[in-house]
Amino acid sequence: MNIAALSIDEVRSGLLWRRFSAEELAAEALRFAEAENPKTSAYLYFSPERAMAAARRVDERIARGEDPGPLGGVPVAVKDVIVTKDVRTTCGSKLLANYIPPYDATAIERVEAAGGVILGKTNCDEFAMGSSTENSAFGPTRNPAALDRVPGGSSGGSAAAVAQGTAVVALGSDTGGSVRQPASFCGVVGVTPTYGRVSRYGLTAYASSLDHIGPLARTVKDAASLLHVIAGRDPRDATSAEAPVPDYSAHLDRDVRGLKLGLPREYLKDLQGDTAELLAKAVERLKSLGCEVREISLPATDYAIACYYVIAMAEASSNLARYDGVRYTSRAAGAETLADMYRRTRAEGFGAECKRRIILGTYVLSAGYYDAYYLKAQKVRALIARDFARAFQEVNAIVAPVSPFPAFRLGEKVDDPMAMYLSDIYTITGSLAGIPCMSVPCGSTGCGLPVGMQILARHFDEITMFRIAHAFEASRN
Ligand code: GLN
Repeated sequence: MNIAALSIDEVRSGLLWRRFSAEELAAEALRFAEAENPKTSAYLYFSPERAMAAARRVDERIARGEDPGPLGGVPVAVKDVIVTKDVRTTCGSKLLANYIPPYDATAIERVEAAGGVILGKTNCDEFAMGSSTENSAFGPTRNPAALDRVPGGSSGGSAAAVAQGTAVVALGSDTGGSVRQPASFCGVVGVTPTYGRVSRYGLTAYASSLDHIGPLARTVKDAASLLHVIAGRDPRDATSAEAPVPDYSAHLDRDVRGLKLGLPREYLKDLQGDTAELLAKAVERLKSLGCEVREISLPATDYAIACYYVIAMAEASSNLARYDGVRYTSRAAGAETLADMYRRTRAEGFGAECKRRIILGTYVLSAGYYDAYYLKAQKVRALIARDFARAFQEVNAIVAPVSPFPAFRLGEKVDDPMAMYLSDIYTITGSLAGIPCMSVPCGSTGCGLPVGMQILARHFDEITMFRIAHAFEASRN
């Protein structure tokens, strides 16, 4: 078995034909991942006991003649912002370096109920704030396609693990692009479902009106299968939607001929290097599959970065208030008063990017500035959502770049927050509108760096998005 290239279907048939047991596979997957990890530091740590226990349960099911489950025996990596009972969850932050959660996120429960085997937790930017995984308190992750480059972020560890073959699928989180952008940089599939599609119970909050849990995988089919497992209403998350969850995989092979796709004019002007050419070729491939591609306009795009960073920082400043040295976190020593203890704990614990966002977020929410910044940003958000709603009256889906450039070098943008923020320009709009969007690999640059194409669809229409991505993936030559 080629462990680094396994698919969910291959795991399933291997188990059912008794080529290996789930325990054998889990042991081999752990051995392989631990041996490969030093190259990229995709994982922060492994959870062998939990993985072996999950694998044993799958073998017991099979021995009883039961179905192993849709993810039976499948090695899964989990971004370290999603809580795992009795397994450390640091959110890439020094503050939570020793935090052991007392419960599982709903997505974790669902993955394990479906037979998934969680190998360990993956590196990420601190509290998911960043675009390169360099903001982790535990050091950066490297891109498996080019070790001197970033894997993207903030779910860089999950994307790198899937690209490197040390997990079959992974869970990431996306607030403004953190699943799609690293998927594009590492050459894997990354999905941001419709807002409300997947329960966020147990996802550490960054910006609650934008946070999503989303799958990463090497194929569209595996990403769709993982989404099917984790999607659906959860009474523990009031923002999770009642909408029924279709069996995405059953629709993947439907013909895409005649589908109308929009290509937003505003997304083409800042593309750098080979990215424009790769997107143009991807569009030609979609046309050859029978899709009709037309140019559309999303005029509010120019305001998206400003709008996103006002809203995300405002929400972040509020969500991060809970790390006060009383609950969850380590506590700074030597404080004389309560206020002093808060100040020292937060000053010592948070990294520079989190501090920047807490300060800016508090500013835009303060009396006097609330109307000028926060309220204004909410109005712009409505305009961005309206742009998409209008476009979807004419087209079935939208195709776009994921990022203006491919993976950049470690250290290249880390001291320039504005340059880092600009890398999110094409992903934050879909997040602000709450629509489903994904990245699917569309080729590599001249120097071998992967590049993804983004597909965006109407609310809860993941099926159309997956169909297009699947047909596109199958047309690869
Ligand atoms: N890069 C964006 C940010 O820093 C997106 C992060 C995310 O989606 N979690 O806010």
